[in-house]
Amino acid sequence: MSDNVLAKFSGLLAAQPRRVLWTSTTFGALLFLLFRYAFAKKRKHGKYIDDLSQVGSTAQGSAWETCDYDVIVVGGGTSGCVLASRLSEDPSIRVLLLEAGGSGSALVATRIPSAFSRLFWTKHVYGFRTEAQVYAKGQKRFFPRAKMLGGCSSINAQMAQYGAPGDFDQWAALAGDESWSWKNLRGYFNKFERYTGDAAYSAVDTSVRGSTGPVRVGYFNRVSEHSKAFLKACAQVGIPLVPDFNGPNGPIGASRVGCFFSPFIFSFLYLLQIMTYVDHKGQRVSSETAYLTKDVLARPNLKVAIHAQVTRLIFDQVNGETRAIGVEFANSPNGPRYRARARKEVVLSAGAIHSPHILLLSGVGPASQLKEHGISVIRDLPGVGANLVDHPVVDMYLRDKKNDSAKVLQPKSFLEVFQTIAEVAKYQLFGTGKLATNFGESAAFVRSDDPVLFPPIDFPHKLEDSTSSPASPDLELFCTPIAFKEHGKILFDMHTYSLHCYLLRPTSRGAVLLNNADPWTLPSVNPNYLQSPHDLEKLMRGFRLIIKIARAEAMEAYLDHKDTNPELDHAIHLKTDDELREVVRERVETIYHPTSTCRMAPQEQNGVVDSKLRVYGIQGLRVCDASIFPWIISGHTAGGCYAIGEKFADDLKADSTRHGTLYVTQYFANVAALDFIEIFAQGLPARSVNAGMTRCLKVSATPAPTPVLSGVWSVKASVTFGRGIKDNVRRRHGGLLAIECGMESIEV
Ligand SMILES: Cc1cc2nc3c(=O)[nH]c(=O)nc-3n(C[C@H](O)[C@H](O)[C@H](O)COP(=O)(O)OP(=O)(O)OC[C@H]3O[C@@H](n4cnc5c(N)ncnc54)[C@H](O)[C@@H]3O)c2cc1C
Repeated sequence: MSDNVLAKFSGLLAAQPRRVLWTSTTFGALLFLLFRYAFAKKRKHGKYIDDLSQVGSTAQGSAWETCDYDVIVVGGGTSGCVLASRLSEDPSIRVLLLEAGGSGSALVATRIPSAFSRLFWTKHVYGFRTEAQVYAKGQKRFFPRAKMLGGCSSINAQMAQYGAPGDFDQWAALAGDESWSWKNLRGYFNKFERYTGDAAYSAVDTSVRGSTGPVRVGYFNRVSEHSKAFLKACAQVGIPLVPDFNGPNGPIGASRVGCFFSPFIFSFLYLLQIMTYVDHKGQRVSSETAYLTKDVLARPNLKVAIHAQVTRLIFDQVNGETRAIGVEFANSPNGPRYRARARKEVVLSAGAIHSPHILLLSGVGPASQLKEHGISVIRDLPGVGANLVDHPVVDMYLRDKKNDSAKVLQPKSFLEVFQTIAEVAKYQLFGTGKLATNFGESAAFVRSDDPVLFPPIDFPHKLEDSTSSPASPDLELFCTPIAFKEHGKILFDMHTYSLHCYLLRPTSRGAVLLNNADPWTLPSVNPNYLQSPHDLEKLMRGFRLIIKIARAEAMEAYLDHKDTNPELDHAIHLKTDDELREVVRERVETIYHPTSTCRMAPQEQNGVVDSKLRVYGIQGLRVCDASIFPWIISGHTAGGCYAIGEKFADDLKADSTRHGTLYVTQYFANVAALDFIEIFAQGLPARSVNAGMTRCLKVSATPAPTPVLSGVWSVKASVTFGRGIKDNVRRRHGGLLAIECGMESIEV
């Protein structure tokens, strides 16, 4: 039998050597990949806890409170992983991270830059449908949000563009706190970033890019020739090239989402190739891969639980005030409910849809809505779930003249299957090829009131200016190496290319509302696209501009404008404005950037959190994710989520050095430079204050405390907790002086 097979194989090899070689190589590569994937999956998954009894308790009464932490982070998404990692750098802060899904990096489709949409209709993604969009033909639009560690950073398009400086200055003004201004926040963008240079992008000013952060950004994704031509076409219609969308002058212009230099740097427009969250191996960088590294997960003070869906927050009355003291969570609707206690803070990082949902389920939100669903009102806070704002996008479908699209990623013929296997092999062996595209390969940022792009003679109506500053854009245009509908579910039979435009500063507002009081029922999501007529008009302008770009000379070699297929848009330039408005209403949908549902703003402006991200009226409860954006930024939102995670972790760590008042009740005089004092602490976590509320601390104080009988001191104290210190001191010093004092700050 084996002789027979061998003989057949030799015959085939003699007749069609190239075909046989190609086939066996690609199958070999595929096998190699399967093995690699199988082992990678096992390696990752072992680090997380999925037996929830190890992190919470099902005990009744107050016995559950023994499962306690200093900080519980709800949601291991983009901001959540940053927080868990940064907070646990301090060994005295015990952190529990609870994530509803599993590991993102264990899924091969998250690691391959082009494969993320494969996860959209799986259990790893919350597959929302919006409410009927009344200003957009009543359509219910697909609206995916990730359910896995890394959150949406595990399924996003990896475009690393962070918005415009003016956006954050506007945040600072709304929050009434300068620490949110670009001047301060840019340090946190740099802190998360590890920009990895590329000779082809030598004009990037590396002095303004972070180089030591955990999130690697650079230009390692694949860029098609078409997307390079797109940049030339942008320049031909009047959009200058810029070296870095994230540079100090803001993003206006065009580029690969990444950077290269242009003499038009001082222009109001910027054109660029986009920088991506893709590493030198051609793999996605997510907040899980960047922040939950092996070393971080080995910390004894950090626990990361997966498949742990938080169902509600637990409150108590402490000194007459409402305080979040813990969370309830479960693995499934009928599984046991576990509880864990947070001594200092519960931080919601469940994203712009789920953070408000958890608040509503827990009785924090608009009282009328809570009562309607039979939920007791803990705090009437009308801003919870309000102000949902999202970037609406409109796509344009074009025929690829070169037949070189990313179509092979969803093969339909036998030949395409082989091409796909070859691409898989190329990707696995070298990290290159069509699998390494992040789809959003090149982009341009413009203003809808730019007189060069939108001459008043053709666009006479003055539209409201919703930008954050004169140097900030309100439209983004980008291209993808394939056209698609329904977020990649529907592809065309032929090779295609696509241009897209989306509105960066919409003023339409929607809401996240409860459908019912069951934590396992998804909430209602209504982004209210095109509620504002100005939004429709601006998108129209954006659409006119991408039509112009598609028909620019630089695209001629790549797009087949003679194609008359009615499903494609080669005749769309002939449409009247009214017809084009209909197209916008028909096609408008999410580009996946919902924000502002727990916005950081004064309560009178529907704010939910103050500038320290504290939920109004509730102690020990904060929110840190895209929901706190005071308003949507004019760019991609993941960078902002990383930066606020970094900033908030710093703020929280600093807070823990100043909490409560310390009253020194016993003072051990004798030692000149290093004195020992016994303290009564108010407001400190119980861990550092025993049942008797006293503990002996070793304090080095400036100035050194003097043996007075009473007084208030202003000291900076560094404290070491150590068993036995008290006894030793008592033995060594005998007689004690009783004093009382207050300490301004103390590091614990
Ligand atoms: C398809 C797609 C493409 C995108 N493309 C880009 C892009 O190219 N560039 C860019 O900058 N931005 C992009 N974005 C947007 C960006 O990724 C998000 O704005 C950002 O990641 C949101 O971060 P977050 O921390 O607010 O929430 P998320 O990252 O969504 O994290 C929320 C986490 O909370 C968990 N969770 C939810 N409910 C619970 C619960 N009850 N208990 C426990 N855990 C819970 C979720 O599972 C999730 O892990 C894209 C988003 C998507 C979906």
